[in-house]
Amino acid sequence: MAYIEPAPIKDKENPLESMMERFNIAAEKLGLSDEVYNVLKNPAKQVIVSLPITMDSGKIQVFEGIRVIHSNILGPAKGGIRFAPDVHIDEVRALAAWMTWKCAVVDIPYGGGKGGVRCNPREMSPGEIERLMRAYTLAMIDVFGPDKDIPAPDMGTGPREMAWLMDEYSKAKGTTVNAVVTGKPLVLGGSLGRTEATGRGVMVSALSAMEKLKINPFQATCAVQGFGNVGSWAALLLEERGLKIISVSDISGAYHNAQGINIREAINYRDSNKGTLEGFPGADKLADPAELLELAVDVLVPAAVEDVITKKNVDNIKAKLIVEGANGPTSFNADKIINEKGIMVVPDILANAGGVTVSYFEWVQNRLGYKWTAERVNRRSDRIMKEAFDQVYKTSIKHEVPMRIAAYIVAIDKVAQTYQFRGGF
Ligand code: NAD
Repeated sequence: MAYIEPAPIKDKENPLESMMERFNIAAEKLGLSDEVYNVLKNPAKQVIVSLPITMDSGKIQVFEGIRVIHSNILGPAKGGIRFAPDVHIDEVRALAAWMTWKCAVVDIPYGGGKGGVRCNPREMSPGEIERLMRAYTLAMIDVFGPDKDIPAPDMGTGPREMAWLMDEYSKAKGTTVNAVVTGKPLVLGGSLGRTEATGRGVMVSALSAMEKLKINPFQATCAVQGFGNVGSWAALLLEERGLKIISVSDISGAYHNAQGINIREAINYRDSNKGTLEGFPGADKLADPAELLELAVDVLVPAAVEDVITKKNVDNIKAKLIVEGANGPTSFNADKIINEKGIMVVPDILANAGGVTVSYFEWVQNRLGYKWTAERVNRRSDRIMKEAFDQVYKTSIKHEVPMRIAAYIVAIDKVAQTYQFRGGF
């Protein structure tokens, strides 16, 4: 088809461009018409606002706020709000599309959205951040809504900011509307199980893939890059399922113990050590943290940052299975070599979708006016993750494509079919 562009060969690969390359391949495999391709490629709505905020100094500073709804074909848009100095409309657009595919692959009734405010929250006081969040919410009052667009935290925002958003939105509507946003504190209608949800989904994806590859979890080794929310929960839950976690890393370095790292001890150490593993006594520090990615393990879980498996190191990867906890850890240019090496990859839009799944449960509970137990949340999210894995796996066999392209095929097919049934103008 005319829209397939040649693969970019550059020194620095961009994870968002990588996402579009895979989208293009899946669209071609599906035989998507140019008309529907154009509908899915372009965002449905883009809003840019100016937010004048009185800073603590008494001076007024103007911030740019963005919200992009990529698609509302499957349902209301869903996606985080990023507070960061490098927020840019192009990136927000791509991240919103990413959310569309992630929600579609796990079959939850949401479209994709993303928002951001260009600011540096590290240099702002809590009061300044609060005024900015409230101003952003009010500026987006006609965009957000439990049936229209449901934001969530992203880089630079968390439960505190979501509480301010919910409060400002509720004041403007004259009634408490907690379903307008997810990732709220528990007392405001947040869901049990949300904290561990993404790591838990990584665990379910890993075990499902190991079953297909006939890897016995009780004889398997694993390395986890990143020891934050996703990485530490994934490591703990995989350890509980029998895997030996021989290496973990964070920004301070990578730590290795061939006998297996006690993950609970590592978490306790991190929590009592200003959030880092630096000096962790239960393992040896590797000379180069990048070595973690090249260890001869059964399962590798990149759960830190994007673009860590690239054409520069892909030849040295020895894992049999890669489960992408992070968004975009593998570049497009590394895909081909990974496939040639016969390594199975459970791609980000599937492997880390446990988080958005439990966000969806938060919204469901808010709308029901009811609270589920952690056990019910976990059971339902495990089922969704397993079913999504099975569908992607079947699609990969049917179309003879890697799991990553299969995940895009499942997602794009779902959105395209829904669009065609709903019809346009
Ligand atoms: P986090 O901030 O809690 O943890 C990040 C971890 O990565 C920290 O341990 C940090 O020290 C480490 N790290 C940072 N740079 C590193 C590097 N160069 N090498 C090794 N370790 C490094 O973040 P998180 O919420 O765990 O998110 C991790 C990834 O998962 C991100 O890509 C995020 O977009 C993605 N993700 C998160 C969620 C979620 O629910 N939290 C959902 C979907 C996707």
